[in-house]
Amino acid sequence: MLRLPSFTYHQPRSLAEALRMKADAGPDGMYVAGGTDLYPNMKRRHQEPRVVISLMGIPELQATEGRNDGTGMTTVGTGLTLTQLSVLPSFRRSYEAVAHAAALVSTPLLRNMGTLGGNLCLDTRCNYYNQSYEWRKAIDFCMKKDGAICWVAPSSPRCWAVSSSDIAPVMVAIGGEYRLVGPGGERVVPAGRFYHNDGINYLTKQPDEILVDVRLPAADGWDAVYHKLRRRGSFDFPVLGVAAWIQWNGKTVADARIVLGGVASWPQEVPEAGAALKDAVLSDAAIERAAEAAYRPSKPLDNTDFELSWRKQMTRVYVTRALEELRARRATA
Ligand SMILES: Cc1cc2nc3c(=O)[nH]c(=O)nc-3n(C[C@H](O)[C@H](O)[C@H](O)COP(=O)(O)OP(=O)(O)OC[C@H]3O[C@@H](n4cnc5c(N)ncnc54)[C@H](O)[C@@H]3O)c2cc1C
Ligand code: SF4
Repeated sequence: MLRLPSFTYHQPRSLAEALRMKADAGPDGMYVAGGTDLYPNMKRRHQEPRVVISLMGIPELQATEGRNDGTGMTTVGTGLTLTQLSVLPSFRRSYEAVAHAAALVSTPLLRNMGTLGGNLCLDTRCNYYNQSYEWRKAIDFCMKKDGAICWVAPSSPRCWAVSSSDIAPVMVAIGGEYRLVGPGGERVVPAGRFYHNDGINYLTKQPDEILVDVRLPAADGWDAVYHKLRRRGSFDFPVLGVAAWIQWNGKTVADARIVLGGVASWPQEVPEAGAALKDAVLSDAAIERAAEAAYRPSKPLDNTDFELSWRKQMTRVYVTRALEELRARRATA
């Protein structure tokens, strides 16, 4: 059985207190929310904080009610569990793709503990990394932790571990914004700029910044869906996620975004796929063009489940299914 190393656990009651504790701990400190990603990682010695600072007692992160701050945006605290997020009436009504992606994460037990914030900051994953310390030691580790080489692409100077969050692609697709609070004050970043395409430095967030809440654009003439491919439908991480967003103008697509999860170190927007739909009626031909455009840059590597060329083929299939669902919903709206 893998054991947690010993560490000091703090439970701050305010953002200011949490930031102070993190400043005191320095690089030895890490934030934790539900712990469903961090604690398994600590057991495998991927992350080795000596001080763990819980964010779950901070009221701002627990805000469930969207507040209209004049922009029409809905705000939701990042401390909400995935279960809470999947059943919030306002979300099921206006942000169904977010609620659906949350409901597709793992198992009920993990959704009861795991939070929105932890999901959006989830560590990247790889077959050569998500292993015990002894397993990784047997292959002399890899550059993401303790080693020098990338076993997926040995001549590569970078790590290709994949973004495996189910909700992050949806946030990028619908144009969500994240509010971060750090020692220097607060800032709001578009979801698309929160992620780096790098398996090691996968977030643009500073280690001491706290993701406090997420702002979602007013549900105004747009629709979005999320489709997920995984081995076991009741449990697994995505090996492919497709988030599709359309701004409608009557029956015409005024604007569109297609974002892929599980194929790169960040939620990968494919602008060519969105452009293939713009100003078009969502016909079979338009859907085929967009699916083809998403298929081309989708380059899964040999670092997650399934055969990689099959995963690439599935991009075309899943984008088609997502757009067909959006078309069917529009027809009955
Ligand atoms: C068996 C198993 C299956 C899983 N399947 C899936 C899956 O299918 N899809 C999926 O998306 N995930 C999956 N997960 C991962 C995880 O359970 C979820 O992503 C969950 O939402 C993580 O949230 P958490 O609160 O537990 O994160 P934590 O473990 O608490 O934190 C994760 C990371 O985020 C940081 N963090 C957390 N909250 C904040 C914040 N507010 N501000 C700044 N940093 C923060 C932490 O420091 C840590 O680095 C799975 C995990 C397991 C163990
Ligand atoms: S992609 Fe390469 S460096 Fe990154 S975790 Fe996998 S083997 Fe390690």
